[in-house]
Amino acid sequence: MRSKPARSMILPRMVVTGPGVLEQLPAIIAELDIPERGLIVCDNNTLQIAGNQVIEYLVAGGHPMEKIVIEGANIEELDRVEAYSDKIDFLVGLGGGRPIDLAKQAGFNKDIPFISIPTAASHDGFGSARASIRQDGRKTSMQAIPPIAVVADTSIISKAPRRLLGAGVGDIISNQTAVLDWKLSEQKADYSEYAAALSEMAAQLVEDGIDKVANGSEEGVRLVVKALISSGVAMSIAGTSRPASGGEHKFSHWLDSNCDTPALHGEQCGLGSIVTMYLHGGNWEKIRDTLKAVNAPVNSKDLGIDEGIVLNAFLNSKEIRPQRVTILDKSNQKQIEEAALATGVIG
Ligand SMILES: [Zn+2]
Repeated sequence: MRSKPARSMILPRMVVTGPGVLEQLPAIIAELDIPERGLIVCDNNTLQIAGNQVIEYLVAGGHPMEKIVIEGANIEELDRVEAYSDKIDFLVGLGGGRPIDLAKQAGFNKDIPFISIPTAASHDGFGSARASIRQDGRKTSMQAIPPIAVVADTSIISKAPRRLLGAGVGDIISNQTAVLDWKLSEQKADYSEYAAALSEMAAQLVEDGIDKVANGSEEGVRLVVKALISSGVAMSIAGTSRPASGGEHKFSHWLDSNCDTPALHGEQCGLGSIVTMYLHGGNWEKIRDTLKAVNAPVNSKDLGIDEGIVLNAFLNSKEIRPQRVTILDKSNQKQIEEAALATGVIG
């Protein structure tokens, strides 16, 4: 596996966002100077939504395309994608999460450029350097590199279920508590003022424009997409996921590992952020109200997870990446219970 030079930033070379931008794919690939043969990684659903269209545009643009329809983001599927590596010059990941994670990781392992085409705006993974791949039944976050290009067609993303957009708001809003956690005293070594500012601004812009997001307009969807891309860029600038991942993410990862039917990543992070913002002494009501505006969960009942398990996730989040100190690691059981109750997340 390759590693990047210390203190370097790897960023996407092209980010194209707007209604109907999928059509520009051949022009984008020409601009990036990528050779001909491509492999599209999708699932059954995204193949119908946009996959066939993507293949059509690329074939018409002179790119022979292979297609792989995956069923999950696990090591076996990753092997299946990587088996194509000698026959292709670029990878396209098309989906909400799993196809993008697989294409990203395969591209990194095999040194093949990867283009990210999100079909939903439910989390910041489509522009980030990290991939979530299942190994032995457990979700593991792996280091990769960001896509060479992100092509986010907002007319496609606008048609995704509204719940996914609400989750995207949760993931982006949680940047605020991630940055507060990052600022905790002994975390200064890797702290980046620029990355923190960009990450917070992305959350702020979505908070300010939440009415547009709530009515599902293309403009609102574009706001969330751009914020999620900025979040990925902030992580690339920092060289760590810290600007967009603090205690609320540890809470979410704990639920993913210990709960049979977890909720969506962004839903869990958004809800986690209400409690960690309370612990930081910040404006947690603003976070709750922003989530409410897009019908994202603000308590354990909305989340569909038993309140005892939700409380356990806050109390035991220390088990996840213990070296990453957050407000949850610095609070005692009584303080965490009080925060969960006072915010109405449980009780
Ligand atoms: Zn996240």
